[in-house]
Amino acid sequence: MSMSDMRARRGGKKAFLFNMIIVGQAGLGKSTFINTLTNHPTIPKRQCDDPAQCTLEKTVDIQAYTVETDEDGMKMQLTVVDTPGFGENIDSSTHFNEILSYIEHQYDDVLAEESKIKRNPKFQDSRIHVLLYFIPPTGHALREIDIELMKRLCGRVNILPCIAKADTLTPKELAAFKMRIMEDIAVNEIQVFDFPCDENEDDDETMQENLELRSLLPFAVVGSDDTLLVNGRTLRARQYPWGIVEVENMKHCDVAQLRSVLLSTHVQELKELTHDVLYEAYRSEKLSQLEG
Ligand code: GDP
Ligand code: MG
Repeated sequence: MSMSDMRARRGGKKAFLFNMIIVGQAGLGKSTFINTLTNHPTIPKRQCDDPAQCTLEKTVDIQAYTVETDEDGMKMQLTVVDTPGFGENIDSSTHFNEILSYIEHQYDDVLAEESKIKRNPKFQDSRIHVLLYFIPPTGHALREIDIELMKRLCGRVNILPCIAKADTLTPKELAAFKMRIMEDIAVNEIQVFDFPCDENEDDDETMQENLELRSLLPFAVVGSDDTLLVNGRTLRARQYPWGIVEVENMKHCDVAQLRSVLLSTHVQELKELTHDVLYEAYRSEKLSQLEG
């Protein structure tokens, strides 16, 4: 644990910082998920007269939003970076480059700060600790474009694969799709954060927890900007003619587990991996380029 993290844990002045980015095709519910995760209209709805048209503002730029979170007593300052997502009209390779350079740019800032004789005490570390990759709920296989993008990103950032709009698949389809995605990830040698266990370091409980989380991969995500009254409780949910999908219900999707991973249980590990492995690799590449 770094000094600043320790201070944050002890309730010192400096907040515990955690930074994530959400990537994937346009229209998969990335912005909606940010509001779901933060439980707050972090990304506001478009102003309009017709309520049916009042959807979230279309994301056009890479943009960072910072909110305070408190999950299981774990207080942090969370920055979520929303991306426009590639689509029919946007050239995907340009989009890939933009995301990669955004991630590398944060490393460059830290590298520059580390090399200074006099460091800036107010410097904010904006390195991305985890990337949520949103996969469209096709129910088939991982698409070429998603394989390519994840392959390019995985050496630079911890990736957590997620199935977007998981409410559009039946439980059977979802289970089969999850299995197929993990096969495609393995075959294509895409490195994702798979809740590694260390027999020498982790206790039984942690190992068990990590194995369970690994078996959920890729996380089935459902997001919503609306709350509904369900059995007298106000819940974030999606209403359909045939029933209600509750975002936090573990029988409906994996958002409750994902929330706990992202806002509490795995933040420390994701930060350490980012600093010790991913940033370190970037740093030595950069420095050897300079020497060579
Ligand atoms: P983005 O382009 O990835 O940021 O997608 P948005 O968050 O703007 O959402 C696009 C559309 O998908 C909106 O109409 C949302 O209401 C809808 N949407 C968002 N999340 C979900 C979900 O989990 N399930 C379903 N069925 N629709 C969703
Ligand atoms: Mg968006």
